Amino acid sequence: MGAPIVIVGAGQSGLQVAESLRSEGWEGGILLLGEEAVPPYHRPPLSKAYLAGKAEEAQLFIRSPEALAKKRIDFRPGSRVAALDIARQTLTLADGSQLDYEGLALATGARNRALPLPGAELDGVFGLRTLDDTRRIAEALAATEAVVVIGGGFIGLEFAAVAAAQGKRVTVLEAAERLMARAVPPALSDFYLALHRAHGVRVELGVSVAAVLGEQGRAHGVRCADGREFEAGLVVAGIGVLPNDELAAAAGIACDRGILVDACSRTSAPNVVASGDCTVTRLEDGSLRRLESVQAAVEQGKSAAAALLGRERPFSARPWFWSDQYEVKLQMAGLAAGADRSVLRGSQEAHAFSLFHYRGEQLLAVDSLNQPQVHMLARRMLDAGRSPTPAQAADSGFELNTVLATPAPAMSS
Ligand SMILES: Cc1cc2nc3c(=O)[nH]c(=O)nc-3n(C[C@H](O)[C@H](O)[C@H](O)COP(=O)(O)OP(=O)(O)OC[C@H]3O[C@@H](n4cnc5c(N)ncnc54)[C@H](O)[C@@H]3O)c2cc1C
Repeated sequence: MGAPIVIVGAGQSGLQVAESLRSEGWEGGILLLGEEAVPPYHRPPLSKAYLAGKAEEAQLFIRSPEALAKKRIDFRPGSRVAALDIARQTLTLADGSQLDYEGLALATGARNRALPLPGAELDGVFGLRTLDDTRRIAEALAATEAVVVIGGGFIGLEFAAVAAAQGKRVTVLEAAERLMARAVPPALSDFYLALHRAHGVRVELGVSVAAVLGEQGRAHGVRCADGREFEAGLVVAGIGVLPNDELAAAAGIACDRGILVDACSRTSAPNVVASGDCTVTRLEDGSLRRLESVQAAVEQGKSAAAALLGRERPFSARPWFWSDQYEVKLQMAGLAAGADRSVLRGSQEAHAFSLFHYRGEQLLAVDSLNQPQVHMLARRMLDAGRSPTPAQAADSGFELNTVLATPAPAMSS
């Protein structure tokens, strides 16, 4: 039997590559190498239901080792790949052993950006990326009354909501002038600011954290550059992630703040594809795009598997994402970048509304809060390239599905 297809990284995307290889008809060996000690798991609940105690650990796992074995996927946990040799089609594991591959998929994900601060090494300071991080955070949360969250992005705010719901004193320190600034429009930042404050969370914007304070190796607070101090038995940093592209870069594969892939998830090296959080795509205007989401990890994983089998399956699905904070479910469809106006549908006061983002008359994206039906319709409309007019979108009485039911307008030349 020939060499297997090897997948480096047993997260959401690596698993998808493995399963898609089988469903696309690859009969040869599939080796799924994961650095973590556990089977592939869902990361989103780590900062949501699982941390809140509303989901069991067993529910996190996407596939059991037995289910993988049934599909003849040779899953090896605790296996870190240390080096690649693209010319010889071999890789070296951290224990020094070597393996040949027929095709290679890199799905190494991302890691948390480290806090560049004095005191970051103290006990009680955490990032939230892995199951292991979450177990340790849950333990520390139970043992403290005061929590500081550094970074008001999705993960920091989801954690803040869980901690506040447990009656903890929570302070969120955000360097930017608004929350989740990278991902949501100002109107949603304002909504979430009010939501967190209504739940008793202290949110400070435009602050720069200077140091984590501690004694005898344990964190007890945070000092800001303006001299203010906040008490904390637990400090959680959510200041973004860095793609794990070092393995690829060291092997000579083109990287630029992520492993560069084309629309079919191919890298610059023959027989090597990459997918998920470790990748970056260059857009037509030369800018780089990295989507850190389950949807991207899955869709790109499918495209990567097809590419390994010599098939072109461009990864083009429209992005979608979600976030749970308190009783509010945010669901985002499409990308709002480039929008020149937004219209509101529903009621902000009732915490049930959607923002439709347009460029001209063209719908680009829809952010829905507690309106799952609108979100699902938005995805279908965006996929079909259909737009309600802004006036229709703003009118809660207007049935959005009629936009999908009517024939598409003739293309103007
Ligand atoms: C707390 C949290 C909440 C999130 N919430 C949402 C959400 O609500 N919605 C959403 O869409 N997305 C969410 N995300 C993002 C989403 O989980 C990621 O985009 C997705 O998991 C990416 O999958 P991946 O397989 O590319 O990477 P990962 O899941 O990071 O998996 C990569 C794996 O590769 C392993 N690895 C790395 N290097 C090596 C090596 N050299 N050898 C062997 N193994 C290696 C890593 O240990 C890791 O297990 C969340 C993420 C986190 C952390």
